[in-house]
Amino acid sequence: MNAELIAVGTEILLGDILNTHAKFLSNELAELGINLLYHTTVGDNKQRLQGIVAQALQRSDLIVVTGGLGPTKDDLTKETVCEQMGVPLVRDEQTVHRIKDYFQRLGKEMPENNLKQALLPEGGTVFQNQHGTAPGMAVQKNGKTAILLPGPPHELVPMFQEQVRPYLMQFTDSVILSHSLRIFGLGESRVDELLDELLDNQNPTVALYAKRGEVLARITAKAETKEKCEEMVSHMVEQVKQRVGEYVYGMDVSSLEEVLVKQLIQHNKSIALAESCTGGMVAEKITSIPGSSQCFSYGIVSYANRVKAEELGVDPTTLKTYGAVSHQVAEQMASCAKQRGQADIGIGITGIAGPDGGTAEKPVGLVYVGVAFHNQVRSIELHLSRGLPDERQDIRQRTAMHALSLALNVLNQELI
Ligand code: ATP
Repeated sequence: MNAELIAVGTEILLGDILNTHAKFLSNELAELGINLLYHTTVGDNKQRLQGIVAQALQRSDLIVVTGGLGPTKDDLTKETVCEQMGVPLVRDEQTVHRIKDYFQRLGKEMPENNLKQALLPEGGTVFQNQHGTAPGMAVQKNGKTAILLPGPPHELVPMFQEQVRPYLMQFTDSVILSHSLRIFGLGESRVDELLDELLDNQNPTVALYAKRGEVLARITAKAETKEKCEEMVSHMVEQVKQRVGEYVYGMDVSSLEEVLVKQLIQHNKSIALAESCTGGMVAEKITSIPGSSQCFSYGIVSYANRVKAEELGVDPTTLKTYGAVSHQVAEQMASCAKQRGQADIGIGITGIAGPDGGTAEKPVGLVYVGVAFHNQVRSIELHLSRGLPDERQDIRQRTAMHALSLALNVLNQELI
C-alpha cells in the first residue's frame, strides 16, 4: 500500500512551527510496513488544498492529512477531502455529545461553530479526541482511504497510537512490534560502531535515534503473531545488551528521571540534591515525575560560595584550598545534602558551564558530580565541552543527566 502525508497549515509554510507530525507519522507508517512516498505541506487555502488532495487521491492508496480540523472558517480539511472523494458530511450525534461534554468539563460555554466539528463523513470511522474537540476520522471510497487528524501534537499523537494504529493494522497482513532501549553515556557514533552488523539486520530491525544527550535503539520485528514478534525482539534485545548493556538504563521508558524516581519509590529510598552549575535542573527533572514527593527529600541551589558554606555546610577551608569546582567540594556537597535531607542518596554538582569562568587548569565544561550513600562518598570528573559556541545550556543539561545516571547506578549497585 502506498501512502502520502499532507500537512495543512500556513504556520508551517511560514516557518512559525515545525512539522513534527511528518517525523512522527513517517516513523509510525514505516513501522506498520506502509510505504510512504510523499510529504506535502499546503497552507490554509481551499484551492491549493483541493489540488493537492486530488493529486494525492490519484497516486496514493492512503492519504493522511493533518491540521485544519478546527471549528473556524479557515479549517477546510474535512470539507475539501470529502468533496474530492464524493462523500457527504452528516451530523454525528455521539460527537455532538462529546463536544458538549468537553466544554461542560471546562466549565465554558460552547461556541456554536464548534458543532461544525460534529459533521462527519457518511459511513466513515470516527477517532474520538480525548484531549480536544476536533475528532479525527477515516473515510474509504473506491479503494482509497483518507485519514484526517487534528493539528495539535498532544491530540494527534495519542489519537494515532490508541485508535489510528489499530485501524491501520487492517492494511498489513502481519503484526509489527517494537521495544526501545534507552542508552546513556555513549555517543550515537560509538553505539553505531558497537552494534555494527546488527544495524543491517532486516527482521528484526535495529534503528538508532540520537536524543538530547542520549541514544534510543528501537528494535522492531514483523511476524505472523505477537508472540513470535516478542520472541524475535527479545532475542535482539539480548544481543544489543551484550554489546552496550552497561549503558542501557531502561526499556520502553521515557527518561532517566522516570527510571530513577520509579526505582527510588520501589525500593523505599530517598534522594537529596545540592546543585551549583545546574541551578536546580536536576530537581526540576525529578519533580516533573508524578509521585516524586515520596522520594525527593531535599534540594538546594547552592550557586554562591557563601550558600555552599553557610547554608549547606561545606567547609570554607575546602572551598578555599581546592576551589568550588573540585572533587572535594562536590563530595562535601553530596554529603551535606544527604545529611540535611536525611536521605539515602546525596548528590552534589559543581562545574563550569561557561562561557566565562574557565581557566587552563579548570576549563569550561569541567564538572564534578559527587554522590554520598551509606557512609561512602565518591565523585566523578566530567569534561563536557565540545568547543562549540553557546554550549552553556547543553553542558548544564548533560551534567543533569550524568547526575541522574550516577544516582541510578549507585542505587542499582546498592540493591544488588
Ligand atoms: P484546532 O482544533 O486546534 O484548530 P486543527 O486540527 O484545526 O486544530 P490547526 O489549526 O491546523 O489544527 O493547528 C493547530 C495547532 O497544531 C498549530 O497551531 C500547531 O501548534 C499544531 N500543529 C498543526 N500542524 C502541525 C504539524 N504538522 N506539526 C506540528 N504541530 C502542528
